[in-house]
Amino acid sequence: MLTDMHVHLQDIPDPLMCKSILSLGQDLRTGQFVCNGTRPEDWQAVEKFAAEDRRVVPFFGVHPWYAGKLPSDWYGLLEDFLKRNPKAGVGEVGLDKACPVDFARQTEVFHRQIEIAGRFARPLSIHCVRAASAILNVLKRSLPPNTRFMIHSYQGSKEMMRELLNLGAYISFSWKSLQRDTEESIALMRNVPLDRLLLETDFPYTEPGRVGADAHDEKYYETLQGVYDLAERAKGVDVEALEKAVWKNGTAFLSGAPAR
Ligand SMILES: [Zn+2]
Repeated sequence: MLTDMHVHLQDIPDPLMCKSILSLGQDLRTGQFVCNGTRPEDWQAVEKFAAEDRRVVPFFGVHPWYAGKLPSDWYGLLEDFLKRNPKAGVGEVGLDKACPVDFARQTEVFHRQIEIAGRFARPLSIHCVRAASAILNVLKRSLPPNTRFMIHSYQGSKEMMRELLNLGAYISFSWKSLQRDTEESIALMRNVPLDRLLLETDFPYTEPGRVGADAHDEKYYETLQGVYDLAERAKGVDVEALEKAVWKNGTAFLSGAPAR
């Protein structure tokens, strides 16, 4: 069974395409879509996907790109969504030095969401662009004990990854992160212990930071299968063992159940 540990179903421009992805998923053994909100305006759509399809796991959060213009009640709203959705995580959150939003503001919003994840005992899906050492500092200082977190679409250094792993991180690779420099990404993936590895599409963002022109339903499955194929190559395990391991890691990350 395949799991997509980071996707934005609500951002797929065509609702029919989205339907087709979910229905194709049944044939293609995709058992889980971890759907990340990015701002209060899309949380309702994420909640609806999860209510209509039990394979969709909702995550609610404020992405650093949207940290600059939040409604004043965003924090209380986030609490409400988490209370109403006991299986939901907190995401997509994080820090991004490539975007124009004031970095101090991003950090403040990130901090508050880490606090809320700790208080509700929910996992965190973290976006990190050119901000790995800042993320590391924040996590070292304020990650509540036993809080699970994943770094999505990882594209940092090996050294930084080791530090994140020491803090308990799950490291997730997307098609995009793997395409940028396939050989280097595979080398990076080799350094992630098999019990900390996650895989994702980050669909429909098939191009860095934006919805790609090629974001259609067939591309979705090509992307999902593509990351699994590259991971199989990197880890040197057979398909079945890889799928099993990633599924188990996903479960441990989402539910906190100890990986067995
Ligand atoms: Zn994302």
